[in-house]
Amino acid sequence: MRRIAILLVFFFLLAGQGFSQRACATAEYIRGSGSIVPELRIKRSAFTNLSRDSFRADVAPGEIPSARMMPQGTISSGVPSSSSVIVIPVVVHVLYNKEEQNISAAQIKAQIDILNRDYRRQNADAQLTPDAFKELAADAHIEFRLASEDPSGLPTSGIVRKKTTIEFFGIDDRIKSSDMGGDNAWDPDKYLNIWTGNLAGGVLGYASLLGGAPEKDGVAIRYNVFGNTGGAFGKGRTATHEIGHWLGLRHIWGDTDCGDDGIADTPPQAAPSRGCPSGVQPSCDNAPGGSMYMNFMDFTNDECTNMFTLGQAQKMRSLFNEGGPRHALASSTKANGTPLEDAIDMTASSPEEIKLFPNPSVGTLTIRFNADPPQGDIVIYNHVGQAVKQLRITESLMRINTAALANGVYYIKAGDTGRAYKFIMAR
Ligand SMILES: [Zn+2]
Repeated sequence: MRRIAILLVFFFLLAGQGFSQRACATAEYIRGSGSIVPELRIKRSAFTNLSRDSFRADVAPGEIPSARMMPQGTISSGVPSSSSVIVIPVVVHVLYNKEEQNISAAQIKAQIDILNRDYRRQNADAQLTPDAFKELAADAHIEFRLASEDPSGLPTSGIVRKKTTIEFFGIDDRIKSSDMGGDNAWDPDKYLNIWTGNLAGGVLGYASLLGGAPEKDGVAIRYNVFGNTGGAFGKGRTATHEIGHWLGLRHIWGDTDCGDDGIADTPPQAAPSRGCPSGVQPSCDNAPGGSMYMNFMDFTNDECTNMFTLGQAQKMRSLFNEGGPRHALASSTKANGTPLEDAIDMTASSPEEIKLFPNPSVGTLTIRFNADPPQGDIVIYNHVGQAVKQLRITESLMRINTAALANGVYYIKAGDTGRAYKFIMAR
């Protein structure tokens, strides 16, 4: 009898009810997220080719006191002018346990490009917005740039790479804690923190809550749906959607049957959309246009979403007003320069091929090659890419005199590997 009960539970899980998984994941996030109770929604795609990956779980802003207290009619009064672009410096924390999770700089930059097209309505698929909704589609005038300066004022690539012993990250926010195998947030008043890693249980992403703990502010995205990776959720729209939450947007169906998302120009809708709908999909008396299933805040597959509305754009921009929860971020100068070339950060992780110590260096630097030393030279570059020191590799333990180098960030390449490692001179 007991075995039958267990089998029934498994049957319901496999049948896509997902109830126990949803409840369990919600409880986990609440335990880690402080006082505000988030709503958690887990999506199951109508397409099954992604299997475990076909769930999109996000923590919707849900009951947000600050949003609730901001009456709809007053939002427009102090919003930055609609033509001024809000620039958001971004840091991407890459947590990897396997090499495939150590996503490339190209993949990260592709995601930033996708965000900039989606939030500026420059996405190529904007033309697919149905006529009924074209007039409502908005350029949110929000731009995302990889940070060029880190919290301590040093130049950065805006990408932090860290090898972790954690095989799967839950929605318990361990990914946001250096002590727990993740990586600490940078000041959320100056950066949007994005974490990528191997999120467990088919979770594609989740966003923090407005007004939540600063050290947990930001979004976490599964590594293989970050950027242009292919598949139903491989067009980078998980990040577009989660950052929408991070900017105060709710799911378009209001997280309940024909619910209200607090935005006047999004039609009511019975439930999340699945897969890739087309034509008019009526529900909740939303004729003649039907449901706005192509909205980024629905659960539609990536390639079938293409818009935010004017109301959503206004809501997002309102957070940057004087007194708004993201006001400080609008004046951050952390992305004013050109980001550094991406590199393995030797201060944060120990790479497989070499050891580099001490780091920061005060006058000497030792490189130990873990395997046979490569042929060729060791070359040290400064932060603008000029070679400042070069010497022939002769043995597997090389001591380099760095006394002549000024304080700052440097990169080192050994042989023909093409891989750059970062170190710091600090006295
Ligand atoms: Zn969501």
